[in-house]
Amino acid sequence: MVEEYTLKIKEIVNETKNVKTFKFDTSSEKIDFKPGQFFMFRFKEDEKLKRAYSIASSPTQKSLDITLNLVGVFTKKLFEAKVGDEVIAQGPFGKFFFDESMKQNLLLVGGGTGITPLMSIAKYWQDKNLNNKLNLLYSVKTPKDIIYEDKIRELNKDNFDFDSIITITRPEEGDEWQGRSGRIDKELLEQNIKNIKDDLFFICGSNEFSRSIISMLEELGASKEQIKADIWGE
Ligand SMILES: Cc1cc2nc3c(=O)[nH]c(=O)nc-3n(C[C@H](O)[C@H](O)[C@H](O)COP(=O)(O)OP(=O)(O)OC[C@H]3O[C@@H](n4cnc5c(N)ncnc54)[C@H](O)[C@@H]3O)c2cc1C
Repeated sequence: MVEEYTLKIKEIVNETKNVKTFKFDTSSEKIDFKPGQFFMFRFKEDEKLKRAYSIASSPTQKSLDITLNLVGVFTKKLFEAKVGDEVIAQGPFGKFFFDESMKQNLLLVGGGTGITPLMSIAKYWQDKNLNNKLNLLYSVKTPKDIIYEDKIRELNKDNFDFDSIITITRPEEGDEWQGRSGRIDKELLEQNIKNIKDDLFFICGSNEFSRSIISMLEELGASKEQIKADIWGE
């Protein structure tokens, strides 16, 4: 059921130069959602200015987190907010979610801030000790744009069944990046698919990014039913 909550900011984390995580205090009420879903956020004094944000934390965690990129009207205003300020959130919304009835292997494919709902799914899977095998492919422009690098490393270290590859699409001289460079291509997808006829694919990112991943997966033989995508316009 869609509910409305008044949420107090309890912590603000600088993730990268232009990306912050806002952690909201949920100690006084339980907020129901499935990992992958989003809420509509607005400020108390403005009914009209609303934006969608995926929940980056898992329902198994005590805090409710969103991670956002500084872009325009809404994000500029939220970036000026302080710990203790309140916002209104309405939700949950969306069919892009994972739940325990899904027993297949999961391939999570994220571009830029599209990592947010995928982290909620990965954390939920970890906290619930589920048996799926998880692979994460995460594409960002430069090493400085990687969000949640420590959390991804931790997931890799703590879980035999979790693997991740971060790929940098615009490497620059002096980056000292040791990992993969280049866009996510068919070969990389294929290397991370266990069973093209059975795995579930969760894709999140810009329109261009998501459409290209979907078409490559379809070319590799995945069916529409196996592919879940959360596309954020542009
Ligand atoms: C289901 C869903 C989930 C989402 N989850 C997230 C999330 O977890 N994290 C996240 O960061 N975003 C997320 N988004 C996107 C989010 O809803 C907003 O669209 C985004 O934060 C931009 O809002 P804004 O008001 O800051 O920008 P707006 O003012 O609405 O700007 C929108 C567009 O205008 C352009 N623009 C605005 N100002 C300027 C400027 N000064 N110069 C050049 N171009 C400009 C921007 O390029 C942008 O494309 C999600 C969207 C959807 C639909």
